[in-house]
Amino acid sequence: MIAKAQRALLLAASRNDALREAVERAPVTRDLVHRFVAGTGDDHALEAAAEQRSRGLLVTLDRLGEDVADEADAARTRDAYVGVLGRLSALGLSDGGDVEVSVKLSALGQALGRDGESVALENARTICEAAALAGTTVTLDMEDHTTVDSTLRVLEALRAEHPWVGAVLQSQLRRTEADCRDLATTGSRVRLCKGAYAPPETVAFTDPHGVDRSYVRCLKVLLHGEGYPMLATHDPLLLEIGEAVARDAGRDADAWEVQMLLGVRPQEQARLGSLGRRVRVYVPYGDDWYAYLVRRLAERPANLALLLRSLTSR
Ligand code: FAD
Repeated sequence: MIAKAQRALLLAASRNDALREAVERAPVTRDLVHRFVAGTGDDHALEAAAEQRSRGLLVTLDRLGEDVADEADAARTRDAYVGVLGRLSALGLSDGGDVEVSVKLSALGQALGRDGESVALENARTICEAAALAGTTVTLDMEDHTTVDSTLRVLEALRAEHPWVGAVLQSQLRRTEADCRDLATTGSRVRLCKGAYAPPETVAFTDPHGVDRSYVRCLKVLLHGEGYPMLATHDPLLLEIGEAVARDAGRDADAWEVQMLLGVRPQEQARLGSLGRRVRVYVPYGDDWYAYLVRRLAERPANLALLLRSLTSR
């Protein structure tokens, strides 16, 4: 497991502009970027989505970017989602939710002062209306632990109009098992992940085994519940446990899904897909790719070594 100090260093690197430029310039690191990020524009996102669909995999598109500076920025994010949903629909990619979108509320204004939550809700509502027209769904990504209550309030408001809006819960948080119970209801789509942030011990399990044990408790609640569970992990043991619990719970193959990130364990994604499992690939795209890339590298030392080799082998 990557040392805490190394992880902290990488997260600091995610905010370093000089390093970002070096990564952008080096031809080999560009390849690395393309492994984890579809590209910067809508065309790249649509191409990547079509490619995953041709492999029989489902897709959720994430336009990278978080914590917008003002309402105009938040509106730009909203309009970009509406635009890409229109194009997905025109291409027939969004039918039946085959390609959906993932949205971060902070990119829609959630952190903008006292009215942030309602700004984000209005923007998310517009995106949901566009998704409904395109015949697909929206999933609200979960960000750091201080945003969970606000995100779940927005979810509730959106689900009153669009019951198919999904949410993400993070097993690293102590509250999540209870949140899973609340959300394991008919029609509710819940993506369960470990969590990509670094919350304090007061609210989170900080050792990896605690996070994994919590993940197992949560997946049991979701798979035995009434909703539609989406297990987002690359962890072979958790995936195996998920399969076994889904079987025990009598879930049909189309009554839950596995989700993985673009570029992470692609062979396993294909293998699970070929066995008839519903597998959805999270495809990030957009100009703000750098912080996302560094977060992925922080999760796995082998990826970090790849980046360092790329930067030094020009
Ligand atoms: P890890 O503990 O990172 O890895 C466990 C094991 O998986 C490893 O030991 C290894 O065996 C295998 N593995 C992992 N990576 C690789 C690799 N590159 N190659 C080969 N084997 C590998 N986080 C949030 O906080 N909010 C979100 O909204 C959110 N959405 C997500 C959506 C999706 C679809 C996915 C997949 C993740 C999302 N995440 C989100 C990120 C998530 O919280 C984790 O940070 C990330 O998925 C890594 O956790 P993991 O479950 O894969 O386990």
